[in-house]
This record gives sequence, structure tokens and C-alpha cells, in this order.
Amino acid sequence: MSGSTSSTLQAVLPAHEEDRLESLLSYGVLDTAPEPVYDDLVRMAAELCGASVAAVSLVDVDRLWFKARVGIPMEETPRIGSMCNEVVTSRAPLVVMDSHAEPQWEEAARWGVRAYAGVPLIGRDGLPIGALCVVDTEPRTFSPETIDWLEMLARQAMTHLELQRTDQRAGLVPGFDTDDLLRPERIRAALDDGELVPYLQPIIDLRTGSVCGGEALLRWEHPEHGVVPPGSFIPMLEATGLILPVGRQVLRDALASVRRLRADGVVADDFGVSVNISALQAAQQGFARGVLEELAAQELSPKILTVELTETASPTSDDVVRQELEALRAAGVKVDADDLGSGHSTLQRVLDLPVTAVKLDLSIISRVTHEPRIATVVGWLVRAAHELGLDVVAEGVETLAQLEFLRSVGCDRAQGYLFGKAVPPALFVCDGAR
Ligand code: C2E
Ligand code: CA
Ligand code: CA
Repeated sequence: MSGSTSSTLQAVLPAHEEDRLESLLSYGVLDTAPEPVYDDLVRMAAELCGASVAAVSLVDVDRLWFKARVGIPMEETPRIGSMCNEVVTSRAPLVVMDSHAEPQWEEAARWGVRAYAGVPLIGRDGLPIGALCVVDTEPRTFSPETIDWLEMLARQAMTHLELQRTDQRAGLVPGFDTDDLLRPERIRAALDDGELVPYLQPIIDLRTGSVCGGEALLRWEHPEHGVVPPGSFIPMLEATGLILPVGRQVLRDALASVRRLRADGVVADDFGVSVNISALQAAQQGFARGVLEELAAQELSPKILTVELTETASPTSDDVVRQELEALRAAGVKVDADDLGSGHSTLQRVLDLPVTAVKLDLSIISRVTHEPRIATVVGWLVRAAHELGLDVVAEGVETLAQLEFLRSVGCDRAQGYLFGKAVPPALFVCDGAR
């Protein structure tokens, strides 16, 4: 190996290394005690992959620190030359059948790592914080399902890590009982019992100043916890695939609400409804057909529906996502790229998918009136979007100053506490609908 330790490490550092390390720290997990949930996950990984060693390996400045491990005596090993570091750098799965056959793994081989399969642990902000991996001390092959299993378990590990980070940010002491919200059987029961309810938040047309639609935002009306916002349980729905039945029900309920509000004369016939769609939903073949069936069941025109897409699915399903969205567009449904400015790769969605509007994330709107640079960027984004023929929707508008600014730069629509929070559909009011 040539060069000093630091320059060698420098050469293989992942992009955005500082942000990545900051993100890793934000989970507050480094150097904490073992926890059964992660121990179970690594045991499952070892079992499923028939390996003697498995770990939830977090890639810190200069070490791999293991939140959970089987078959490894030490709590940490050097980062440099490690396969977990490569997984984090490439953000992609890695399989090595025999480290002795590849000189780049000389250092890993010195630590007894002969064969390796690992997948990245990627947080909601898109930054890889470590790897879930299995290791063998003998050369071997891995079955084709190995990476799928590891990815499934990695999603579960990330769901728990995200929840702990949310609790920590909310100032909740570790051990706060979120377990009930996280048990798949409990969510299934909530779905059956009608506890999962899409609320409606008004969307304002900035040219006319009147309510032109609403965004369906999922709430869990929990018998003990009260009204639970979706941030605490959506990651788990996505990790387990339960977002598919829940998402379908959200769409069905949101459309049924619109139909009722129309029948009651609360909203006009052109009132639009926006529904959040998880990448996993859009990546299912037949997704568009299902959406159009729900519209037909409520006798509603596809023109009143907008689907809001947050992240793109994995590259392998991008083609499916595009086809499904194109089928929706052809039928008249609109597609918004959600969360522009939040760190998710909205630009990629704008470039690759048939979107009709972009939504500026509340994290950027909250800064427009006191940060001139942000104001300049937002003005520029609105112009760029309009040039592409896209509408711009601002979310999280809380002050008159923000509203005035957005009007001045020609933003098309807005939503936020200034106009109203998400409310149960039965309480939705809409001035001057008739
Ligand atoms: P989002 O789509 O970016 O939704 C906007 C979030 O900002 C909502 O949080 C909303 O209540 C909140 N918000 C709206 N106006 C204001 C404001 O003026 N100030 C502040 N501080 N916040 C405001 P919520 O309802 O907790 O939803 C969080 C995220 O959960 C959503 O972010 C969306 O990504 C996801 N989500 C919600 N419902 C669904 C759903 O049915 N399916 C899927 N897949 N995701 C959903
Ligand atoms: Ca949204
Ligand atoms: Ca957002």
C-alpha cells in the first residue's frame, strides 16, 4: 500500500463526507449499548446468508463501529481498506468471494475478512452512514438472494435508526414507547379499523387567493397516542411494503372525501386533491391502472387528481415508474415532484419523469424572507420551472411576508399554516367555493 494513511483514505472518501459524518452523528447511535432489535437483525442476516459473521457497521471518521455484531470479538476495526468503506463510498452493494484474490482487499484480509457481502445503510437524507454485512473467514460464493435479504434487513435497521433520530430531535428520551406504532400487525389492524385517515390541508391559488385544492396528509387516529403524524410510522410502512395497501386506502379515502365535499357543496367541481405516493407504489406495474380504478369508482375525473412523488425508486425500477406516471399523465392526472430543496434528488425527477409541477419544500420557504441568497434561488427556481412549463407550489407558508414574496416571484400555488393546517375532511371549509 502506498502513501500515508490519511492521503490513502482521502483518495477513497465518499462524496459529501462532511455531511455524511454529520448525518451519522445526528442519529446519536455511535458508542451506545447493544439493543435487541439490531442484534436480532444481524442474527437474521447471518442465518439467512449462512455466514458466521454479520454486523451493522457504522462508518465513522477512521473506524467501523459495530452497533450489532455476531462472530466478531471487537467493537470496532479500522476504516481504511475496509469493504464497508467501499460500500459507503459507492453507495452500492458489494460482494467479494475471496479477498486473497484481489490486492485491494489486502487490509481487510489482514483482519480475517475472506468473503464479504454488504449493502449500504442510507438515511432519509440520502446519505450512507454504514453497511449491513455478512462475512466469512473462508472463500465462498453467495446465493443470488443474499443482496435482497440484506437490503430488506438494512431497510428495517434504517427504520429503527430514523425513529430514534426523530425521538432524539423531538427531545424524547430513548425508550419512549413507539413500539406499538412500529408493529406491522398493529398497523394492519389500524388500517382495518379505519384509524388511518387522510386529513386535508388547503392549497391556495396565488393568483385568485382562493382555495383550489387540498393535499391528503395521512394521520393515525390512535386510541391511546391521539393523532399521530405520519413521520413516525411511514418509514416503517415503506420498509415493510405495508405502504402499498395503506397508500391505496389513502387514495380511496381522499377521493371519497372529495366526492362527499362536492356533494355537500363545500368545494367546487374543479377542486383538486393531491395525494402523496411513495416510490415503492409508483414502481409497481399496474399502479396507474389502480389509481384510475379508484377515480372511476368515485366517478371523478382524473383531472382533479395530483400525485406527489418524493423520491425516485431504485434505478432498476425507474423505467416502471416512468411508464406508470406516463399512463397517469395520458389519462389527465397531474404529477408533482415533492420536496424541492429538501436534499432529495428532485432535479433528477424533474429531468427523468413526466412531472407537471414542483413543490418547494418548507425547509427552503422558512428561509426566504431573511436570507437573500435563498430568495434569489427561489426566484430563479420559479423562473426555471415556468420556462420548462411546470407550475410551482410552495409548502410551509406561515407568514404574510413569505406569501408576499412568493406572489412577487410568480409562484403559482401555496399551502401552509397561514391558510390552514390539515384537518379531518369533514371539517374542511372552503370560502367562496360556490
Ligand atoms: P410533505 O408531503 O412534504 O407534507 C408537508 C408536511 O408539512 C406535512 O407534514 C404538513 O402537515 C406540514 N406542513 C404544512 N404546512 C406547514 C406549515 O406552514 N408549517 C410547518 N411547520 N409544517 C407544515 P405531515 O403531515 O407530518 O407529513 C409529513 C410527510 O409524510 C409528508 O411530507 C409526506 O412526505 C409524508 N406523507 C404524508 N401522508 C402520506 C401518505 O398518505 N402517503 C405517503 N407515502 N406519504 C405521506
Ligand atoms: Ca407532499
Ligand atoms: Ca416537504
